[in-house]
Parts: sequence; C-alpha cells; structure tokens
Amino acid sequence: MATIDQTLHQVRARVARACSAAHRDVQSVTLLAVSKTFGADAIREAFTAGQRDFGENYVQEALEKMSALADLRGELRWHLIGAVQSNKTRDIAQHFDWVHCIDRLKIAQRLSAQRPPDRPPLQLCIQVNVSGEASKSGVVPADAVALALGIAELPRERVRLRGLMSVPEPQQGFEAQRRPHRALRELLAAANERGLALDTLSMGMSADLEAAIHEGATIVRVGTAIFGSR
Ligand SMILES: *Cc1c(COP(=O)(O)O)cnc(C)c1O
Repeated sequence: MATIDQTLHQVRARVARACSAAHRDVQSVTLLAVSKTFGADAIREAFTAGQRDFGENYVQEALEKMSALADLRGELRWHLIGAVQSNKTRDIAQHFDWVHCIDRLKIAQRLSAQRPPDRPPLQLCIQVNVSGEASKSGVVPADAVALALGIAELPRERVRLRGLMSVPEPQQGFEAQRRPHRALRELLAAANERGLALDTLSMGMSADLEAAIHEGATIVRVGTAIFGSR
C-alpha cells in the first residue's frame, strides 16, 4: 500500500500537470487535504510530507484532532468543509481558519460576532448548489450574489468573504465535469462585477480536480486520493 507521502506526491503531480495544461501557475492552487474519518496520525504523516491545509467535515471530530495535534498549532490551517450547525458556531469561530460552506447570512453573522478579536479574520466561502439537486446543501445560484453582498458588509477584521465553493453531482468525463465548475467561475465573476473582490474558487475533489483547475479552482479539496477510501 502506498504511504501518505507517496500519495501526496502523486496528487501534487496531478495538480502541477493540470496547472500546466491550463497555463496556470501551480502556486495559484492550494491543495486542501480532506482528512475526515482519518486520525491525527494520518494528518501528522501528511504534515511531515509538507502538507499544511486540512479539511474536516464534522466539528467535534476536528476538535479532537486539533487537540491531539496541539504541538503543531500555528503551523496547520484548518478548514471546515461540512455543514455548519448554528449551535457549533462558537467552536468554529474559535478553532478554524476557513469555513467553506456558508449558506445563510445568519451563520456568517454569528461567526463574525464570535470570532475572537485576537485571531486573524475567519476566511469564508459561500457554498453554491450548482447541480440544483433538492438534497444538496448550498444556496441556489440565483441567491449567491445577494448573500455575498450581505456577508461582505460584516466587519472585515472578524470574517473575510473570499469566494465560492461547490460539491457538484459526480460526472464522468472531462467535459461533463467542467460544466458545474465553469458555472461557479461565472458566478464569482458576476459577484465581482457587483463590486466584490472575491479571489477563491473552492472546487474539485479526487475525481475531478483536473477539470476544476481548468475552470479556475484556487482550492482543490482532496481526500480519497491522499488518505485512501473511507
Ligand atoms: C469528503 C469531501 C471531499 C473529498 O472528497 P474525495 O472524493 O475523497 O476527494 C471534498 N469536499 C467535501 C465537501 C467533502 O465532503
């Protein structure tokens, strides 16, 4: 079985190839290692291999790993990529660096109010439901710009709206995979035409990171290809 060091090298090579095919600087894409269901030891192994950004879906699970990795505090960046429950916002505001799945102004307001003033601003993305399935979370595309304008009014020293995030329905084939990512890129452009300065597209996972990078992803969220199947 491949080690995490090896799988990370493979994923970095995929990112580099995709950047080069898209005529993009490899530095313009951040690899977010999605460590949900894997333990603190796996994260430590990835850290030793140079990985710094980690994505978790569940707050409680993440807090346990953060405390097991307290010696690395300040060197890791923790991203929440799962649904935000309003009774968890205080923990999130205290312990995370990024939250990718904002879908209501009320949640952003709570995070803003609860972000400790001695910490840098919490970085936020709005999750957009680009595939339009009833079961998926995220705002419908038509509501994304209005929500972005609302969040951008919150105090910038507490929360900073950075961009958009999506989890599209899985598609086979490069062209089909590109479509939802292109839609998210166009939505970001529409928000910026309304006066915002968003710079982040959090899109692309193990199966479609190439298509996402082709369409402008700045953060790819990769779990299985690094840590193995869950
Ligand atoms: C689990 C998860 C990922 C990683 O998916 P893989 O297919 O394992 O790479 C990315 N984003 C979100 C929101 C996830 O829940």
